[in-house]
Amino acid sequence: MTIRSTPAWVLTLLAAVACGTSAPSPVAPAAAPSLTPTLDGAYPMAIVKWLAADIGPRVTGSAACERAAAAMDDRFRALGLAHVHRETFDVKSVWEGATTEVVLVPRDGSARALRAVSLSRAGGTSASGVEAPIVTVPLDPARIALAAASLRGAIVYAARPYPATFGELHDALKRASRALRDAGAAALLLGGAPEPKVIMMTSDGHDEPLPAMMLARDDEGLLARAIEAGDARARVRVDVSRAAPGHGGHASNVIGEIPGTTREIVLVHAHLDTVYGSPGARDDAAGVAIVAEAMRILRTRGETPRRTIRAVLFSGEEDGYLGSRAYVVAHERELDDITTTLEIDSGAEAITAFDTTGRADAASALARWLAPSGVRVVSDGNPLHSDNAFFMLAGIVGLDAVQDTSAYFRTYHHRPSDTHDGIGPKTLAANGALVASVLVTIANRDARIGPRLGPSEIRALVAPYGADVSNLGAEIP
Ligand SMILES: [Zn+2]
Repeated sequence: MTIRSTPAWVLTLLAAVACGTSAPSPVAPAAAPSLTPTLDGAYPMAIVKWLAADIGPRVTGSAACERAAAAMDDRFRALGLAHVHRETFDVKSVWEGATTEVVLVPRDGSARALRAVSLSRAGGTSASGVEAPIVTVPLDPARIALAAASLRGAIVYAARPYPATFGELHDALKRASRALRDAGAAALLLGGAPEPKVIMMTSDGHDEPLPAMMLARDDEGLLARAIEAGDARARVRVDVSRAAPGHGGHASNVIGEIPGTTREIVLVHAHLDTVYGSPGARDDAAGVAIVAEAMRILRTRGETPRRTIRAVLFSGEEDGYLGSRAYVVAHERELDDITTTLEIDSGAEAITAFDTTGRADAASALARWLAPSGVRVVSDGNPLHSDNAFFMLAGIVGLDAVQDTSAYFRTYHHRPSDTHDGIGPKTLAANGALVASVLVTIANRDARIGPRLGPSEIRALVAPYGADVSNLGAEIP
């Protein structure tokens, strides 16, 4: 089998990016235009600012999310991508946001407001709210069932520690909220993050009637003292806003591509939508901008890859991957030809590696192909991460761009603080160049990065993540 050689410009970009140089020197084939003047990051940074600052929060199914989709469609056309279009899917309920108040009301009248945010897709209260005693119970259905008699009408406080991974937490929330509803609890207060952040109450697009909110960690001291004093009562008011009428709606995925010379496809994706209240600059306007920058670079180079390089900007990621789920269903007959999906959804820091998330076969192929450049390949992430999940459940190799997420999760993730401040344009540009290089490498090889797996192999791959699969409500084919 012959192996098509990697274009010289790809090696140049890879080498420059891998060395941490933000503007690669233009050692490119003679006919190719220099990229240096356009790698200042102005193009991807403008996309981040425009999505995060000009449009702002982009809840799936909202007018803002559709405005973002329409405008990225325009930008893909302006880049000269082929087959640019939007694919629309239904959203059962468009849960647009909530105003949340939690006030401690001891009998001595010294009311104290606690910082809290409603979980997305959780229930609301009446306009006057609910005032009730606070009862502490862990986020565990068995313990909730044992304490059921004391929970009727109560505001239930589930302190940390509770499951640390999103998949396990969603799974625990699903089972606990059912048990709390059976017990007749009025609301759920979750122990908090240092700054409360929006997480999903449900992950398949349906709403859960139980009001549920996350507290700020600092404010839990006040709550703990009230509980110690044996006089913990709170007033909770959650005003949920949904799209009217009927709460239903639709959302769009945006697609554009660089056609290849064979039937096969390499897919790169990021997501347009956000949780409510967060401008989502890092989650995931930066990913959208990196994908667009990679496609801009490939167009600038006039690439005709062996496999089609297709960019997809999903909506519905924050609602349980609704957009990528709809895409996998709509493109079922094409799935054999999609060799891999590359996801960019871990913030705006420099990409340090590519993770084949459990696919050891893909990891060894990619590591071999990228060896000359020094780009790292690992294979230790969750195969069901984000919009890769439904492709992985269909047996397709999923890649994740690995970025430093420590500040992302501590400070920005799912919070109003996720603005474009502090995002480096040159880092976005370097990430775009690296992604362009890796896409071309995967698209131009004779060999596929890895085969499409069958049902038993998929089960083995996702077995350690069983909680996530049940939470996705997915059937392995
Ligand atoms: Zn995201």
